[in-house]
Amino acid sequence: MADGPSRHERVITELRDNLRGPLITAADAGYDEARGVWNGAIDRRPIAVARVAGTADVVTALGVAREHGLPVAVRGGGHNVAGFATCDDGIVVDLSALKGIRVDRAARTARAQGGVVWGELDAETQAFGLATTGGVVSGTGIAGFTLGGGIGWLMRKHGVAADNLVSADVVTAAGETVTADGRENRELLWGLRGGGGNFGVVTSLEYRLLPVGPLVYGGVILFPAERGPELLRFYAEWTRDLPDELTTMVVFLAAPPMPFVPAEWHGRQAIAVACCHIGTADAATAAFKELRDFGEPVADALGPIPYTVLQGMFDPTAPRGINAYWKTHHLADLAGPAIDTAAERAAELTRLFPLSAVHFHHLEGAVARGSSGDGAFSHRTPRFVMNILGMWADAADADPHTRWVRGTWDAMRAHATGDPYLNFLADEGGTQVRRAYSDEVFARLTALKKKYDPENLFRLNQNIPPG
Ligand SMILES: Cc1cc2nc3c(=O)[nH]c(=O)nc-3n(C[C@H](O)[C@H](O)[C@H](O)COP(=O)(O)OP(=O)(O)OC[C@H]3O[C@@H](n4cnc5c(N)ncnc54)[C@H](O)[C@@H]3O)c2cc1C
Repeated sequence: MADGPSRHERVITELRDNLRGPLITAADAGYDEARGVWNGAIDRRPIAVARVAGTADVVTALGVAREHGLPVAVRGGGHNVAGFATCDDGIVVDLSALKGIRVDRAARTARAQGGVVWGELDAETQAFGLATTGGVVSGTGIAGFTLGGGIGWLMRKHGVAADNLVSADVVTAAGETVTADGRENRELLWGLRGGGGNFGVVTSLEYRLLPVGPLVYGGVILFPAERGPELLRFYAEWTRDLPDELTTMVVFLAAPPMPFVPAEWHGRQAIAVACCHIGTADAATAAFKELRDFGEPVADALGPIPYTVLQGMFDPTAPRGINAYWKTHHLADLAGPAIDTAAERAAELTRLFPLSAVHFHHLEGAVARGSSGDGAFSHRTPRFVMNILGMWADAADADPHTRWVRGTWDAMRAHATGDPYLNFLADEGGTQVRRAYSDEVFARLTALKKKYDPENLFRLNQNIPPG
């Protein structure tokens, strides 16, 4: 007797017969592109990538996955460094074709579909002189970013992205379509504000917007890496009294070959202080004065800049397909030996591995004033997030880079809170995910997970187990 179709074939047929959007399988020319994510080190082979055309396709894809007991990877912008947006032997629910955005000028809100990335949302909201807190690279997906908290240039004035999420349309694990907002499914909205992709596929997100730009004041000022300890000491003090309009970060990196950097500095180890001030020109100039007084920069490119340009300023440092391994710490403060260790390790990292970088994001302001009563995003009191970004071009170079990132993370452990920021976590297992939340928040999240995804269909993520 002839064998019937294999399970994979049945899955593909069911999906192909019922989806409106394209289905991409190993038999298709675009498969390698479709199964890949931003992180080139991730190499997984799903049965199919369902490039959904709308909510109905999401319901269909989840139904097929449930019926066949298959893993589901959900993709917004594909930027998750752990590669959760692709999988082996499962179905990728790829929202990247869902690009609808509508700005409501009067209400100062924008609704955007789950495949929108920050460069797209910023372009639309800026046409109205409005914006909401987004990431520092324009290709990052709004969905994964917001569900994990979302820190970026506007956060000290307007809070993290999750604080600005006012409503979301969600397809649950059971395939039900629900809206979570201030009126219905309020607990779900609370969970989506920082609880990650655990509760369903978010097909659209509505954000509160605030007047921003179109011109803001910022860019980068660059110093030699040898001044690392001195600069971090200065930075820790300078940031104590900054206005909320100013968000900054320190980046240890190889100086980029950009026109504002003198040619002899291209590729040399440097430290950038990157800034975004959303107040007036005078207020920005006053706020930058002390930073400029730190003295003798390699290059000073602080000035008026369109917000959308500022949002893309780090894009060249993070091209799609680069190999990446990251680890992160929250730092209650930067002081004493933490500064020497951080500066020494960071300078060495970029000397040995020129595509790599170490970031220190300054938080406080509206980030600290927010409350986990309003959303699951938990750790609001640390002054800084440190992100150690190992990045390399040749796949064969993975070992020294990952070793270095881990070594740097270990060296900073004694100076860190031990509670990580969710969006910068790699695939580090349950303990780190648990520590991304307070006890109270985690208990609430596990109860929510039990309600919306009791079988843990959505487990390829920073996973919250059903309580
Ligand atoms: C170059 C780069 C720059 C970054 N900059 C920042 C930054 O400035 N600030 C910051 O906070 N983080 C930043 N990140 C981290 C980023 O926020 C997270 O990796 C985030 O998960 C990316 O979202 P995404 O939609 O692109 O992810 P994807 O890889 O598509 O998805 C990651 C996970 O998010 C969930 N998810 C995504 N879309 C949906 C959806 N529609 N419905 C339900 N769940 C979904 C799923 O669990 C999925 O596994 C950056 C990452 C990169 C690679």
